Amino acid sequence: MVRMKTILVAINAKYEHESLAAWYLKAACRKSGLDLTVLQHSINDSVQKIWTAILDEEPDVACFSCYIWNRILVQNLIADLKKVRPDTVVVVGGPEVCYDEAAADFKAYGADYVIRGEGESRLPRLLLQLEGKAGSGEASWQDEGREAEDFVSPFIPEYLERVRDRIAYIESSRGCPYNCSYCLSSIDRGLRCFPLEEVYQGIDALVGAGARVIKFIDRSFNVHRHALEIWEYIRKFSPETITFHFEVNPDRLSDRQMEALAAMPPGLMQIEAGIQSTNLETLKAISRSMDVDRALENLKKIMAWGNIHVHTDLIAGLPFEDMDSFKESFNAVYAVRTHHLQLGFLKLLHGTRIRREAEKHQYRFRSYPPYEVLSNRYLTAKDILTLKGIEEVLDRFYNSGRLNLTLAYAETLFPSAFDFYHKLSCWLKERNLLFMPLAAIRLYELLRDFSLDAGADPQLLESLLGLDYVCSLRTTAIPETLLMAGEKQTGLAVLEPWEFADREWIDSVGKNRFRKRVIGLEAFCPVIKKGNIEYKRSRVVVDTQKTDPVTGRATMTVA
Ligand code: SF4
Repeated sequence: MVRMKTILVAINAKYEHESLAAWYLKAACRKSGLDLTVLQHSINDSVQKIWTAILDEEPDVACFSCYIWNRILVQNLIADLKKVRPDTVVVVGGPEVCYDEAAADFKAYGADYVIRGEGESRLPRLLLQLEGKAGSGEASWQDEGREAEDFVSPFIPEYLERVRDRIAYIESSRGCPYNCSYCLSSIDRGLRCFPLEEVYQGIDALVGAGARVIKFIDRSFNVHRHALEIWEYIRKFSPETITFHFEVNPDRLSDRQMEALAAMPPGLMQIEAGIQSTNLETLKAISRSMDVDRALENLKKIMAWGNIHVHTDLIAGLPFEDMDSFKESFNAVYAVRTHHLQLGFLKLLHGTRIRREAEKHQYRFRSYPPYEVLSNRYLTAKDILTLKGIEEVLDRFYNSGRLNLTLAYAETLFPSAFDFYHKLSCWLKERNLLFMPLAAIRLYELLRDFSLDAGADPQLLESLLGLDYVCSLRTTAIPETLLMAGEKQTGLAVLEPWEFADREWIDSVGKNRFRKRVIGLEAFCPVIKKGNIEYKRSRVVVDTQKTDPVTGRATMTVA
């Protein structure tokens, strides 16, 4: 009997992300008496660094976890490894091997075994077979047979040591009961919930290990039976500087779940809600079961409470969604004014129904990961480029959270939010600035120049940019370039804050420290009247050390 040296190579999309899969596998192998060394890298590491780490281990068995972001790299590493260590047994698993032809595709690069489906039971069985401690033949390790009761916690000490100040992942259920045609989760066998006590222990372990964000990777968190209990459980961490992230189906939030969200301490929780499209024909074609009106209504309520960070998603390139239709979807979701709106592009993933139906909708897509749409029956390749430009400016300007007040005004100069972002992207492109790196101050200057070109009121614009600048960057110094120096009538006047701030407050902080921390301004400030924004010349104080726990922006008080 030989003891093998086994490594598991996990190449993550970013350094901040720590693959959970690798640690599940290590924990499962340990439970079966097997040892496995995890090599964690990110795609930003050099190939040489990853290659050196692999060779230094002199592995008998090398396992690779394969995703769309690392597939090409993994294929190349396997091919190289087989050239110099032909006897090393190569095993590949992960979402990128979930389709029928995956085994042939990866074996062409030198893989010996391709594990399809969940690896927690299959990998230990395969390794035991390779060590000669189990039967032979594929059937003995590739069959189904892992139930929720076989739960193995991935939160072993080696993992916990790595998550301090980083994003840590956890799951309380696996699979999804829905069947969206573009999604790999729809292929799983329904929804399985993990034991609640194990989930609580996982949360405690991650909080204790100092994780900054704990992200539940459950695909539709609120449809599983433990959602309310888990939301209740995390409330006890409210004084900590930790955030919990959940993916929810916003139209499925029950009244009790909405009540639980309303009562959540500010800043403790983030939710991500995929809307994808508001076109009913599109939703039907992709089998996405969603009551769009209810979803948007619930999200509006949550935004009005102001205690939860909300992220929404749209997907461009879905069936029956042409430019007019996408514009409607965009405007409807944008109107909710969530903190983050992500415009993604359809990926035709291996194993999904939409990929099988590609010809029906004349999909042209990249034949290599991430298999992104290039054009279809409804959008030309140029339309997709237009939407890419909109995605870029949406991300830079809206999702940065730095320009909330100015954007809310500048958008009103255009027929719709979609038109505003479209024109802004064209304006930047004409100046060779689209897709270029820009310093933070340039965002304010460019939005000012673009808005002035579109007919904005200069004084109102100056006010809003100044307020956005001090609130989002939490500073008491406004750069000269944002002020209309020398103009007779300026939109923004910087005042000594103690001229109108509360005397007791100044005394409690001390005059010098108060000056560094607080800025007084006279500016046109937005006021909501009967649901509409009006602008009123007011004196405001901005305390740069008092921030909104959800947005991170400094608070502004009208004096
Ligand atoms: S609801 Fe979300 S996770 Fe479930 S199948 Fe649809 S896209 Fe996938």
